[in-house]
Amino acid sequence: MVLLTGGLGYIGSHTAVELLKAGYEVVIIDNLSNSKEIVKEKIEQISGKKVKFYKGDVRDYELLEKIVKENEIDSIMHFAGYKAVGESVKEPLKYYDNNIFSTLALIRLMQEHKIKNLVFSSSATVYGRAESMPIYEDFPVSATNPYGRTKLFIEEILKDMYVADNSLNIAILRYFNPIGAHESGLIGEDPNGIPNNLMPYITKVATGKLEKLSIFGNDYNTKDGTGVRDYIHVCDLALGHVKALKKLETNSGLVVYNLGTGTGYSVLEMVNTFNEVCGNKVKFVFAPRRDGDVDMCYASPEKAERELGFKATHTLKQMCESSYNFEMKNKE
Ligand code: NAD
Ligand code: UDP
Repeated sequence: MVLLTGGLGYIGSHTAVELLKAGYEVVIIDNLSNSKEIVKEKIEQISGKKVKFYKGDVRDYELLEKIVKENEIDSIMHFAGYKAVGESVKEPLKYYDNNIFSTLALIRLMQEHKIKNLVFSSSATVYGRAESMPIYEDFPVSATNPYGRTKLFIEEILKDMYVADNSLNIAILRYFNPIGAHESGLIGEDPNGIPNNLMPYITKVATGKLEKLSIFGNDYNTKDGTGVRDYIHVCDLALGHVKALKKLETNSGLVVYNLGTGTGYSVLEMVNTFNEVCGNKVKFVFAPRRDGDVDMCYASPEKAERELGFKATHTLKQMCESSYNFEMKNKE
């Protein structure tokens, strides 16, 4: 059985579906700080299988103990955490407390109950300003904001745990830019308030909830001057987790993988492709660069392909279509 922390969130819910499809049983703990309980039913509806759900905080060690007593957990996927860069600059304590303490509670649980396998949601943000593209897993890591620092610190903590006990199997997955939604339109990205990220912002402009997109910077050293990122369909990303878990089950030890496509698209390419899909509803203006943004960021996906047999297959158009489909179905 696999315990998914934050399993009702965007990436966790899609991963739950893929795990169920692959024949795993899934238990979810989520405090609903950034998700809704109805997502559990949607996961069940898509997969035709049952999911056990505990409403609560990963930092609540008593609850974690209750979960392992009631379920035979052999692996954990740790998605729970806060993820907004800007908010982390304003409220660093909130980020250190949630992201770090939740991980420490899980590590303690693993130690005390001899749970050996852990998949951790890290981020391409740990590469900071990379010297060259594409980004390989052995590039130097750094952080430019408290959110990124929580990811960096947790990676270091996990490495220390592994040095102390090399019977552990830990996969650190560095996600590039997850977008898109399940083809059913039942689950997808549903941020509270005004989105910070590009794709949810675009979808809200397309459905008339926001007036226009501001493109942050058109003077970068890129193909058309706008920022370039490696967008990966969330269902591909979810499949990457199943592959990573299978790797851990071979007693892999600690492993680190980029999960990306290897292709960078500019903001303008994103807008143009989305406009093809929705019928030119995305209006935009150019605005100044956003603080802290890098010009380009895309992965080398080679290691994950070589060692996990993982390759993202969705096209940019499919990513845009699925995002739009989810937004249209969930407008209210
Ligand atoms: P999300 O906010 O949709 O999902 C996180 C879930 O965790 C939410 O359902 C939230 O309610 C829950 N949660 C938060 N703190 C909790 C706690 N203490 N106890 C129990 N539940 C808690 O975010 P997501 O996009 O699915 O991201 C999942 C993970 O992937 C995060 O760790 C995030 O930092 C990482 N990540 C995300 C992206 C991205 O672009 N979405 C990129 C790189 C890394
Ligand atoms: N971006 C933009 N307008 C927005 C949001 C994002 O132009 O309203 C740009 C941003 O500058 C970056 C790209 O879109 O070049 C992806 O940004 P996002 O916040 O989605 O991801 P990240 O910066 O974390 O890679």
